[in-house]
Amino acid sequence: MNVCPVDFDDDAVRADLRRELLAWFDGRQRDLPWRRHRSLYGTWISEMMLQQTTVATVVPYWERFLARFPDVQSLAAAPEEDVLAHWSGLGYYRRARQLHAAARQVVAEFGGALPGDVDAWRGLPGIGPYAAGAIASLGLGLPEAAVDANVRRVLGRWLGASGQPGSLPARTVEDLARALVRGDRPGAWNEALMELGALVCQARAPHCEACPVRASCGAHQLGIADAPAAPGIRAVAVPVQVLLIAFVAADHLWLEPPGGRLINCGVDAAPARQELGSLHQGLLTLPTTAWYQRPPRRSLGLLGALPPGWAAVAGFPGAGPADRVGSFRHAITRFRLVVDVAVVDVSRPWAAPASNGDPWPGAKQGRAGRWVPLADAPGLNISQLARKALRLIADARG
Ligand code: SF4
Repeated sequence: MNVCPVDFDDDAVRADLRRELLAWFDGRQRDLPWRRHRSLYGTWISEMMLQQTTVATVVPYWERFLARFPDVQSLAAAPEEDVLAHWSGLGYYRRARQLHAAARQVVAEFGGALPGDVDAWRGLPGIGPYAAGAIASLGLGLPEAAVDANVRRVLGRWLGASGQPGSLPARTVEDLARALVRGDRPGAWNEALMELGALVCQARAPHCEACPVRASCGAHQLGIADAPAAPGIRAVAVPVQVLLIAFVAADHLWLEPPGGRLINCGVDAAPARQELGSLHQGLLTLPTTAWYQRPPRRSLGLLGALPPGWAAVAGFPGAGPADRVGSFRHAITRFRLVVDVAVVDVSRPWAAPASNGDPWPGAKQGRAGRWVPLADAPGLNISQLARKALRLIADARG
């Protein structure tokens, strides 16, 4: 590690740095709905949604979510299916379930009053050190640090690291974050750090010439701000091909929970992932084949590889031939999917399992699911894969 040329123990250095960054933030911050009328509840929802997701994606979801669940009481009282429906498309659905569980815990344990200190926030499902610090500083005005990967990179550069992960002891960054958040407007300070990381001090190409704090940045002074990132730190992407089938009977579509039987294709390819239940837990999706590992620059031709009688074997009696609609690309965690979509017209729809309160009886054993009006499907809590497939089908059918 390089010796940092900036002395952050100097009160005057820290004061200059704080003043310059906050002035920049006041003039340049993005207009975001959760910033317009800052509330503790709205801050909590935004922080949960923003994990692993871009600001541009989150904005319309946040607005719809707040319109439907304007406070913790309405969120706690809602059925999980409703919460997931308003999260559908954001991905990482575990966050939505944890948010829902936390709302119920707040109502049950605190009478619906959101916690007023960082430790109580950390005791709620889905709230780690970063989220607790962000919520406490932005929503409560408390001097708590909030260090995510973005902020870690910025602070690391200030301390004279090149931005390479692992090039600084984590403790140093945390200490600096705690030292700098003390003072006026701790929430604005944390937001300013996040904004600088998002707009100026970006991972691959920091815009040092436009940076309001370059005079206090160790990496800039050392001339190493845009050193290349360390190799080999990314998860290896797994190319995958999969076939989704939309069974349609008289303008009704068959949807089912994940985790049921997969449609078997007679292709000579290793499954990249066979157990799909945990991926879209709590959502509805289209019947699918396994996720097959995709060879470079070659299609597995999954539709053509369906064996005779495949539909009946898979539990779809009376299904007609499958017509290809098209394909799209999609990424889920480390998997890079090419998704083929086909439509099968069903003349005699099979009966859905009787419901006994559990909407998906027998999901693990066979074909649990239900017929829904095709026009209603996009409004349900369906997986993003199914949503993209339905858009493709709607386009193809005009
Ligand atoms: S000077 Fe460059 S490296 Fe330093 S904080 Fe600003 S953008 Fe980041």
